Amino acid sequence: MPIGEFDIIKKYFTRLGCGRGVQLGVGDDCALLSVPEGKQLAVSMDTLVAGVHFPKNSDPELIAERALRVNLSDLAAMGAEPLWFTLGLTLPDADPLWLNGFSQGLFNAADEFYCVLVGGDTTHGPLSITIQVHGAIDADHALLRSGANVGDLVLVTGTLGDAAAALAVIQGRLEVGEQGFHYLMQSFYRPKPQLHEGQLLAHIASAAIDISDGLIADLGHICEESLVGAIIDIDRLPLSGLMEKRVEPVQAVMWALSGGDDYQLCFTLPPQNLNKLEILIKQGKINATIVGEIVSGSGVTCLKDGKPVQISASGYNHFKS
Ligand code: ADP
Ligand code: MG
Repeated sequence: MPIGEFDIIKKYFTRLGCGRGVQLGVGDDCALLSVPEGKQLAVSMDTLVAGVHFPKNSDPELIAERALRVNLSDLAAMGAEPLWFTLGLTLPDADPLWLNGFSQGLFNAADEFYCVLVGGDTTHGPLSITIQVHGAIDADHALLRSGANVGDLVLVTGTLGDAAAALAVIQGRLEVGEQGFHYLMQSFYRPKPQLHEGQLLAHIASAAIDISDGLIADLGHICEESLVGAIIDIDRLPLSGLMEKRVEPVQAVMWALSGGDDYQLCFTLPPQNLNKLEILIKQGKINATIVGEIVSGSGVTCLKDGKPVQISASGYNHFKS
């Protein structure tokens, strides 16, 4: 007999004992949750559709891991601390093998980042996964896209372009050896939401965004919302050892500028807070690199050797006058 909706919820998505301000979790008409005192609730949602956002036959454990991690990255970009999430799951059938893998991946990520599943909805139809995350942030300390000012430094956490390199490997366009393969698959399927970094930056940065569509595109959103422009020095882009060793330099820079899915943070920092950031970097609490500056005007301009370059699908060129 096929397993029904209520059995799926009980078997795969209900866990006893929660904490984190959860008075009532999965099972009733609503969850009952207490927001920590003095905090604001930060809420964000993403939907992943099979055949659009991931191949239909992807490993369910990896789909779940990635889905939650990508959602948590939005909380990181706001400077929020994860509390709870809800799951809207549409399934073509109730395949126990798939559900088992999916629930394992989901709870792996949930436990790693202290985020409790408190409810959801389960329906029948083409495979799709919607996650809504809830996080806490000190009232009025959220990192908005609109806070950048002329003269602020532009920085990014971690290294850029690895996810684009991973995609090239998956699609057979790049060969990186066994160790490189493992590194890239981890960074693609299990991106690390920069949660601690975001929470620290909430007290010193002026604006932030997580890099899901590529540095140029996402920094462009900060510029638009803050009514400013930005310059990026492409020689300062932080690249992983693998990118430096295995990827041709122009390609590496292109991926670092325009490749999506890295889920690092791009943030702007008033120069007077640079010493505070340097202390956090020395303490090993954050890994960040200055890549540019906020200027008056609009849009993102890339510089090489101090001169503007034009970025196109095939590479970058100095502007022709
Ligand atoms: P209702 O019909 O009252 O909306 P549901 O049958 O949709 O109730 O859900 C019953 C309970 O199971 C609710 O607490 C709901 O939040 C939870 N739930 C349903 N689907 C999921 C899911 N995929 N993951 C976690 N909780 C779920
Ligand atoms: Mg319902």
